[in-house]
Amino acid sequence: MNILVINCGSSSLKYQLINSDTEAVLAKGLCERIGIEGSQITYQPAGGEKEITVSPMPTHTQAIQLVLDALTNEKTGVIKSLDEVGAVGHRVVHGGEKFTTSTLLTDEAMKAIEECNDLAPLHNPANLIGIRACQELMPNTPMAAVFDTAFHQTMPQEAYLYGLPYEYYEKYKVRRYGFHGTSHSFVSKKAAEMAGKPYEDLKIIVCHLGNGASLSAVDHGKSVDTSMGLTPLEGLIMGTRSGDIDPAIMEYIAKKENLDIAGVMNVLNKKSGVLGISGVSSDFRDIENAANEGNERAATALRTFNYRVIKYIGAYAAAMNGVDIIAFTAGLGENDKNMRKAVCDHLSYLGVKIDEEANNVRGVDRIISTPDSAVQVMIVPTNEELAIARETLALVK
Ligand code: AMP
Repeated sequence: MNILVINCGSSSLKYQLINSDTEAVLAKGLCERIGIEGSQITYQPAGGEKEITVSPMPTHTQAIQLVLDALTNEKTGVIKSLDEVGAVGHRVVHGGEKFTTSTLLTDEAMKAIEECNDLAPLHNPANLIGIRACQELMPNTPMAAVFDTAFHQTMPQEAYLYGLPYEYYEKYKVRRYGFHGTSHSFVSKKAAEMAGKPYEDLKIIVCHLGNGASLSAVDHGKSVDTSMGLTPLEGLIMGTRSGDIDPAIMEYIAKKENLDIAGVMNVLNKKSGVLGISGVSSDFRDIENAANEGNERAATALRTFNYRVIKYIGAYAAAMNGVDIIAFTAGLGENDKNMRKAVCDHLSYLGVKIDEEANNVRGVDRIISTPDSAVQVMIVPTNEELAIARETLALVK
């Protein structure tokens, strides 16, 4: 069966058509600037050239129509008609406490997702717009929602509660949810496979380190803690997000800089992280280049980022009372050997030993620890689209 995977944001939409039997990507692409002047669609069939077409997309329905037209195009399309799309899997950011697993998109499920909008006001409404647009154009095709939060719903209360008045949890559902769940689930399962051991027997720390970054502790197949919280702002220092800070900083900065709460949130989400510390870029490649040229603040940003990862690994080894596997994934985790080495060199207390030659690769599944390392360290490239396709297939089968 072919499964169309859709990841819809407020003004962009990523898509992949995946054959669920072979797990091959038949075509993929991106619609940008939806609802804004200058919108364009990128389409790339497997093994073919990337095509970029500028085309008006006043709404998401037009964007999805263009995706479907591209997939069925006589010359460059990969399917003859939409009958060849067996199901659509939609990424949905926040499932709150309502969704502990992926779900088929019934009217009831749509309503429940809408009820989570307050928890992710920038993302969930955009995800829903994408789902509705798809339903309009493919009314008879089954659709599923795969949530970023669902995998972490197994966290115990002591891990997800904040030290806040309990009624905020009861009334407003203020608690830690965690994100990147599709990736943490995919990578932890793959890591167990690579170790050749049952998933249910292992203690795994997944380091999803990209522009957004989070760690998770996966104990015997269940997420028991993760570093992002009510929103993706908590936890690690990220590209532009601050991660953990003393909450009192917000009032202090607001007064000093004459900012309101929205202004402070903008600083914490968009101007902080390694961008804020280095003053160079949110992209680690730029920061590493600057550090190599002697830029001290860039070097400080890298050390500060690594230090927070090291601290969280320690915290999760403590939370699980041990760790068998540490898996690195996402843009930085898969590609940055210097970061992996700097982090792992600090884990000798866990008996971690890195094989420098094995670590000297990018973007491949590989065990990078030595055979006598007490913890297996791995690079496990994430594939959220494939994970969404697998979940969707399981629901529609
Ligand atoms: P993601 O959000 O998973 O797409 O990751 C994107 C981030 O990965 C970029 O912002 C880069 O900072 C980082 N990245 C990608 N390739 C490399 C590389 N070769 N070395 C260092 N960082 C990289």
